[in-house]
Amino acid sequence: MLNHSFEFFPPKTPEGEQKLLDTCKQLSVHQPEFVSVTFGAGGSTQAGTLKAVQTLLQQGYATAPHVSCVGFKAAELEALLKQYLALGVERIVALRGDLPSGMVEPGDFKYASELVQFVRSHVSKTLHIEVAAYPETHPQAKTPHDDIAAFLHKVRCGANSAITQYFYNVDAFLYFRDAIAKESDIPIVPGIMPITNHLQLARFSDACGAEIPRWIRQRLQSFGDDKASIVEFGTEVVARQCQRLAREGVNAFHFYTLNQAGPTLGILQQL
Ligand code: FAD
Repeated sequence: MLNHSFEFFPPKTPEGEQKLLDTCKQLSVHQPEFVSVTFGAGGSTQAGTLKAVQTLLQQGYATAPHVSCVGFKAAELEALLKQYLALGVERIVALRGDLPSGMVEPGDFKYASELVQFVRSHVSKTLHIEVAAYPETHPQAKTPHDDIAAFLHKVRCGANSAITQYFYNVDAFLYFRDAIAKESDIPIVPGIMPITNHLQLARFSDACGAEIPRWIRQRLQSFGDDKASIVEFGTEVVARQCQRLAREGVNAFHFYTLNQAGPTLGILQQL
């Protein structure tokens, strides 16, 4: 039995709000363990995230807000987290975030581990805390070894489980998972990014350090503007990736839906 979770971003318009609800409803046939809502670093989407979380909770979805700590004062995040608890939130995704360009005030937190520690000491001992993991190494880490050490530190600070950055190299995930398993039994859920748009994917991947293998890039390039072929190829590649992960014992997937049901449903139908 596979478990799923679905990630959304907070919509900015009434049309976007309706689309989010429609998307969530379509995906809910797969009975997600939870859905999550991203949070712009530095608080750029704070009101939007809170609103989307409220709406999804009202619709009965177990909803996990992402909370990124960079640029925040501890008291601000404490108030936000307590607001979430009062709404019935039982799980968060705790992140550092990246300081938006032009923002110079780093706030009270340097790393996600400090946020995890803060939640445990000031907010809740029982809230389920997800943290981020990087099978291909976080771009700012000095070495893969340092990144794994930093990840394990988040675990020791009180994280319950982890969601990875998306990747298209299954071996990178397996190698990372096995390295962590020597030190900790924390569940690590692969983040799955559907492929629907070549240029957008290339932009995201450059920014977050996820590698698109050459053979995938070349195929995507060769399709040009032929969106249908990109989606067909992308769905097959990512579904095969999930199948291979499932054969390797993975029993949960976290989908980066980009607020669209179709691409994620296409992959799930092949699992
Ligand atoms: P950290 O765990 O703090 O790590 C950041 C870097 O610091 C790493 O290179 C790590 O190796 C290093 N490091 C950590 N601790 C130490 C230490 N003690 N000493 C030295 N180096 C250290 N961003 C958003 O803004 N909003 C979101 O909603 C969001 N959602 C995400 C969801 C997932 C599942 C993932 C994988 C990422 C998400 N991000 C989001 C992106 C994330 O904020 C960035 O990748 C950010 O650069 C790092 O965040 P982190 O929580 O992994 O940071």
